[in-house]
Amino acid sequence: MKMTACVVREGGLAQPFAESKPISVEEVTLDGPGPGEGLGKGGGAGLCHSDLSILNGDRKRGLPLVLGHEGAGEVVEVGQAVDDVRVGDHIVFQFSASCGRCRRCLEGRPQICERATASKAKGQLLSGAHRLRDADGNTLNHHSGVSCFAEYCVADRGSVVVIDPSLPFREAAIFGCAVMTGAGAVLNTARIRAGDSVAIVGLGGVGLNGLLGAKLAGAETIVAIDLSDDKLGLARQLGATHTVNANDADHIEQVRDITHGGVDFAFDLAGTIKAMETAYGCTRYGGSIVTAGLSPSGAHFSFEQGDLVGQEKSIRGSYMGSCVPVRDIPRFISLYQQGRLPVDRLVDRTIGFDEVNAGFDQLQANATVRQICLPHG
Ligand SMILES: [Zn+2]
Ligand SMILES: [Zn+2]
Repeated sequence: MKMTACVVREGGLAQPFAESKPISVEEVTLDGPGPGEGLGKGGGAGLCHSDLSILNGDRKRGLPLVLGHEGAGEVVEVGQAVDDVRVGDHIVFQFSASCGRCRRCLEGRPQICERATASKAKGQLLSGAHRLRDADGNTLNHHSGVSCFAEYCVADRGSVVVIDPSLPFREAAIFGCAVMTGAGAVLNTARIRAGDSVAIVGLGGVGLNGLLGAKLAGAETIVAIDLSDDKLGLARQLGATHTVNANDADHIEQVRDITHGGVDFAFDLAGTIKAMETAYGCTRYGGSIVTAGLSPSGAHFSFEQGDLVGQEKSIRGSYMGSCVPVRDIPRFISLYQQGRLPVDRLVDRTIGFDEVNAGFDQLQANATVRQICLPHG
């Protein structure tokens, strides 16, 4: 079928993107679903920092690709061998299909599935197939097996989770990345306990979801840290007990003072080395640092080794919030519907494909949390 999609052909173009236009809205060809796959009609896709890092060149991806790894929509066709999803089901697209057979999958860590890691690196679906072509017939890569900045997506069965159809798509979309990555880092990777003290470094979509997760889990102290006073204000409304501006030269000291020597858990949810240094610095003796942000390719974080030993700190990576999507997406949606995880507060606005370049300028300028993109806004 022919459809409209947002194609990225080159990373690292000059900003503003509204002028350099790294994303072109094109008519492309989408093949029908193969065995184990389905066709979904897009109902909204979230603009995420990991998309931005492709546009600004911070992270390298095989280009050209159809952008988008977080979204929601409706099933319109299923391929052979798919018997547990029906036409008309509402779904969340998530960026980590899994094979269910490799060692990592069988350890309960489908988010780092061996086969999915390899297929994503090649811009393929889990099956190894490419189903997208441009007007000249050239292959277009899939973005993390999803590519949901498009009218339709063909995805592996494992890339979607069926959801409650009463949930509007624009609210459902952010469960595919921001909610899982942020809330999951706190609830799954760190498994914080009621009464713990927590620092959240970076208040984008992922960071604010981490904050909501910390509040849900009963953290006693939640220190929110960011460069933007507006974001710090929003964090206070969402449950941060304290806020610290990372522009202050003594911001780490401020956190250590507030928490009498440092937090139990510090989360780098910004994906910069500076944020990682802040998280490391404000963790107490015996505390843990969890990082779920992706810094630019090749960036290295360093620390004094003796401190790690003498202070018994731990550093843990968290990919997609250590989530098992089929378990966690319905659980987080239910918590949202109960009012205990108010992620709708994080969605700023809905835009059309024609506004998507400017939308990423806004994200780069730290002026938005989550924008949802639809073909016609
Ligand atoms: Zn994302
Ligand atoms: Zn696997």
